[in-house]
Amino acid sequence: MDYKNLENQDKDVFLAISREKERQINEIELIASENYVSLAVLESMGSVLTNKYSEGYPKHRYYGGNQIVDIVEEIAIERAKKIFNAEHVNVQPLSGSPANAAVYFAFLKPGDKVMGLKLDHGGHLSHGHPVNFSGMLYDFVQYEVDSKTGKIDMKEVRKIALKEKPKMIVAGFSAYSREIEWQKFKEIADEIGAYTFADIAHTAGLIAAKKMDNPVPYFDVVSSTTHKTLRGPRGAMIMCKEKYAKQIDRAVFPGMQGGPHDHITAAKAVAFGEILRPEFAEYGDQIIKNAQKMAEEFKKREYKVISDGTDNHLMVVDMTSKDIDGKTVEVALEKCGISVSRSTIPNDPNPPIKPSGVRFGTPAVTTRGMKETEIVKIVEWIDKAIGNRDNNKVLNQIQKEVEEFCQNFPIPSV
Ligand SMILES: *Cc1c(COP(=O)(O)O)cnc(C)c1O
Repeated sequence: MDYKNLENQDKDVFLAISREKERQINEIELIASENYVSLAVLESMGSVLTNKYSEGYPKHRYYGGNQIVDIVEEIAIERAKKIFNAEHVNVQPLSGSPANAAVYFAFLKPGDKVMGLKLDHGGHLSHGHPVNFSGMLYDFVQYEVDSKTGKIDMKEVRKIALKEKPKMIVAGFSAYSREIEWQKFKEIADEIGAYTFADIAHTAGLIAAKKMDNPVPYFDVVSSTTHKTLRGPRGAMIMCKEKYAKQIDRAVFPGMQGGPHDHITAAKAVAFGEILRPEFAEYGDQIIKNAQKMAEEFKKREYKVISDGTDNHLMVVDMTSKDIDGKTVEVALEKCGISVSRSTIPNDPNPPIKPSGVRFGTPAVTTRGMKETEIVKIVEWIDKAIGNRDNNKVLNQIQKEVEEFCQNFPIPSV
């Protein structure tokens, strides 16, 4: 897109957007929750649908003039149902956290007990952290990953569940690199009559590509963002069994939100259309191959990878294995044009602002067409930058090489 009108009207914002575009073109993106949308998704987000108000659901709106918006929302719903084999889908949640708020709102009362994975073990803020609404409104008990294996121990999950008897069990995480045993979660929940809630914000694209196990057939309710591995617009969705359809829809609107963002709904529909093409399965496959190669390359250089590898698109690397913390690595890599996010490691002795780990993810670089050969090169740069973190001359040299390398892998969103 050329943004000509913006350029004529508002130089300041135009300039900022142009600079961000250059940054995205010239830098390597390894933040596991980020991706690049296609121009078709971007055009839908920039469409006239943003002008419309459509509180309610298709054919039951509180505003006139929604015949066309209804078509758009129905396309998004039908495609999502097909991708995930879902009985019911709500495509209106504005983002992942509000989607989760709606799920809790639909099934729980304030003060109810819920079980979720601890944030520093790979969970998400909205899974019961005390600074988040979830931790303030509900009585969360938290499970952890096993300190030796870095994996979730289902025996431990069962033990806590039987002791605490939560009303809901949450599975699905932000910084966990292994396959999740959805069926075992379901069996444990059934023993105590708890609801099952899967938050697949991170891995939804890999599930859609049929490279990871899908919780939708087993779980009562499943939420996902649409902007991470699904490669759609910033937003979210909720899937559930038909018997919960009404309570989920009511929790989203009027419970949590007002009018849906129809331009984003259109972009979700377009992204879902892309996912239904055969190329998307290849994309999912390559994301995982790239992540596994990356983990292997880190291990070869004696970095400690949490859980010793990955089944999905991400990994957390314990930087204390190199006598450095995650924040210092993040800053050194930023100077080289490589974006990563610092991350806690399980039982992290350091505070979240300066944690021990770094999370690396491959969805964005895979969208640019990078494969195993490029991953080796990227890990070489990362290792060199870490070894020379105080040497700006070396970091500048890496930055030049990264920029040159990036020109061979165009991003789709420009
Ligand atoms: C990213 C993420 C979310 C929140 O998404 P936002 O759109 O940033 O609110 C929720 N749950 C999990 C597991 C996530 O990884």
